[in-house]
Amino acid sequence: MLNYVQILSTPTADTPGACLLLHFDNRRYLFGHLAEGTQRLMVQRKLSANKLEHIFLSGNIDWHSTGGLLGMILTIADVHAGAKAAMAEANQKRKEQGKAEKKKNANSGGSDGLFDALYIHGGKNLTHMLAAARRFVFRKGLPLRPHEIGTESTAASRKNSRKNGSAPDWQDDNIQVWNVPIVPAPAVAERSDGSPLAKRRRLSGEEEDTHMTSQGEAVAGSAADEEADQKVRESVVKEMFDSTWRLDALITTNLHDVQLPAKIFVRDEKTGHIQKYNGPMPDKDKDCPNIKVLVREPWPSTKISRLPKTTPSTTSMCYIAKSHPRRGKFMAAEAKRLGVAPVDFKKLTNGESVTLANGKVVTPGMVLEPNIPGHGFAIIDLRYQSLIDAFLGRPEWENADIMQGIEAMYWIFDHDVHKDKRIAAFMQRHSSIKHVVLSGQISPNHLALESPSSQIIKMHTIDGSRFPLPVFSNEAAALPETLSSGGVEAQVGRPGATIQFAPRVVVQDDKIVPPMDTLAPIQELASDPEILTLAKAAKEKVADPTWVKRIEELEKDMPNRDAEIVTLGTGSALPSKYRNVSATLIRVPGYGSYLLDCGENTLGQLRRVFGHSGADEILKDLKAIYISHLHADHHLGTASILRRRSELVEGSVAVIATSAFHGWLDEYREVEALGKIDSVYLGNGNGSTPGRQAYPSCPSNGWDLEKEVGLKSVEAVYVDHCHSATAVVLTWPTGLKIAYSGDCRPSPPFARLGKGAHLMIHECTFDDDLQGDALAKKHSTMSEALDIGRQMQARRILLTHFSQRYPKIPVISEESQNQNQAVDRSVLFAFDYMRVKLGEFKHAEAYLPALRRLYAEEEGRQS
Ligand SMILES: [Zn+2]
Repeated sequence: MLNYVQILSTPTADTPGACLLLHFDNRRYLFGHLAEGTQRLMVQRKLSANKLEHIFLSGNIDWHSTGGLLGMILTIADVHAGAKAAMAEANQKRKEQGKAEKKKNANSGGSDGLFDALYIHGGKNLTHMLAAARRFVFRKGLPLRPHEIGTESTAASRKNSRKNGSAPDWQDDNIQVWNVPIVPAPAVAERSDGSPLAKRRRLSGEEEDTHMTSQGEAVAGSAADEEADQKVRESVVKEMFDSTWRLDALITTNLHDVQLPAKIFVRDEKTGHIQKYNGPMPDKDKDCPNIKVLVREPWPSTKISRLPKTTPSTTSMCYIAKSHPRRGKFMAAEAKRLGVAPVDFKKLTNGESVTLANGKVVTPGMVLEPNIPGHGFAIIDLRYQSLIDAFLGRPEWENADIMQGIEAMYWIFDHDVHKDKRIAAFMQRHSSIKHVVLSGQISPNHLALESPSSQIIKMHTIDGSRFPLPVFSNEAAALPETLSSGGVEAQVGRPGATIQFAPRVVVQDDKIVPPMDTLAPIQELASDPEILTLAKAAKEKVADPTWVKRIEELEKDMPNRDAEIVTLGTGSALPSKYRNVSATLIRVPGYGSYLLDCGENTLGQLRRVFGHSGADEILKDLKAIYISHLHADHHLGTASILRRRSELVEGSVAVIATSAFHGWLDEYREVEALGKIDSVYLGNGNGSTPGRQAYPSCPSNGWDLEKEVGLKSVEAVYVDHCHSATAVVLTWPTGLKIAYSGDCRPSPPFARLGKGAHLMIHECTFDDDLQGDALAKKHSTMSEALDIGRQMQARRILLTHFSQRYPKIPVISEESQNQNQAVDRSVLFAFDYMRVKLGEFKHAEAYLPALRRLYAEEEGRQS
């Protein structure tokens, strides 16, 4: 059986986390950070998730270590559902042919995509973090088993002791795992009565006193309370993935107890048929009868409106993992020499002794070579200086049984921990082990996703003003000298670097993924000279002063022509090879920056476009984040944006969304501090029927939209997509008006709200020939999006989410083109990393023939 550990990701802008893949033929395991971008990287590396059964999260639970987890779970659930459906279909065929049904192979691990459950191991708040996502993650038939290790309520984890000597904490048929929770010493202060006092900062900023017992154990609330709270979270997670709930199931209730708004049904007494209830309602008619009615059963995990409170954890989870020891080789000749009959060999190999006819006893130890120890690795997550002492104090490192066969230690560092002399001394004490460093401060910020990078390099060559080269570096920062002295040669980990454990131990540096060849895309581009000819023609056109003058004349009534639109993520649904999920940045000089939706790894996309410090400058200037709806592809990047922003500035940022998103954010913020947020709720007391307006709330008394956010107005309307999805129209004091659709079926009320917008950004997930799909999946086609733009009389239209399969550019009909020309309307297509100023849509439009030719080429190359 082949068994190896491979570096899947090192910290880059595309993949902020460090992650290891442990391979066995029947099962895969991930260790480290399931950060944003991990899943997209797996798509790029063509790694399927179908044998992935265990995820061991290192570090403390925060968005840095878990930001990609929810997206990954959704993908695995879909892989699983697909495999299940395929098996059911195959069995149906077998049945028709009179053959016996094929059963799931119990020993296959997940190799047929039909494992029993997805196990996620991690520290305190893992369950809370998962349960908080109940508002947007629900999949049936993928049992999820969070395994929260060493919560701070258990004394064992705090005492840093390993009670059971060398016994592993967890094992399956492949590996043994030792959990190594690193618990930093609490900052101890003196109380007035002389007893030690630990201060824990809470999210709200106030400090909570926690008494210390004589054993140094903090007492915060009763253990029984905490256990009951955890039960609630666990049951929520179980319901999210494992419930028997059916969308169409109706339950009987009293009319007065119905939570409004709701679709209410009644059973016709005579016919027994179910019909819609249209009678008096309890909220409008006080004489409303309290009759028995039927309502849809709510999604069970949403019945809990608020999870029990939690606090951030500082415990950092580390792991030691290795394969089981194997039995030594059977020495048949020796057994024969001792007089054992061949028929008894099996007993000896099974560990039994054999008594010979002469009464002599032959034990297995006499005829078996010594056991071959298991091989494995340790993953050490030390992102904070405060962890170093506790790390050094762990007993595992000096336990010869546990450390035997540990070939490598993978170190996740941050905050200069790698410079600490104690770390160097530790490595020197364990110099026979390979030490591999994975750190955002050291690892090269290489282009981890070659496909989109190749695309942007080509587009840059065509139109450098709209498509900036991605900011990257293939050079690692130098490791401190202390890490390469005293017999230690620590290395900077590279993606793909592999250590094979079985059949024999081999370091396989030849598996390292080479840095992307950034010249190759330019050479590819040269294979079709016509593209560059078209680009040159466009360049000449936009450089012509007469042409520029004419555009300025046409746009002289347009405010903020220098406002910039940066499309950071333009894909629909899942992160794909070419496109990241939804996020659009609007920068209005003098007013601020605004994010319209914030899909997974929006921060990384920002860092590719603007560099690390450039992205920080934008975050300092960020005034508001608008989230259009609760689908995971529109908001999973919010936490890391807020977190990074809070590290840079004190002031607050507005988050504009409906209550479900705020509910998630409020619960998640208990896990990790995300800075000051002004929560602007979008709502309508009469319900969220598409077409109704959703009005923004005021986050606090005296809060002023223009003063705080730089906006004159925020107007939103419910649209037909998923529950409480909205589209928004933002107006600045200069009169600048930008309308943004999120995901939706075409919405005439949105067109009315955005009347006269200078820019409309609209999704068009489906080509016109897929009208049926657009209807069924509640998205828009290109023609529908353009039609909304016409109704809105939008001057500039930016279409996003188009063509998921290949990044080809759709063709607008000649009729539409003529209409657009007559009213000075420009239509552009959004690509990841594109920067376009409002006053330069015409410039960008000039390059469309070259881009279209490029994508026709690309399509030919891929199909
Ligand atoms: Zn959606």
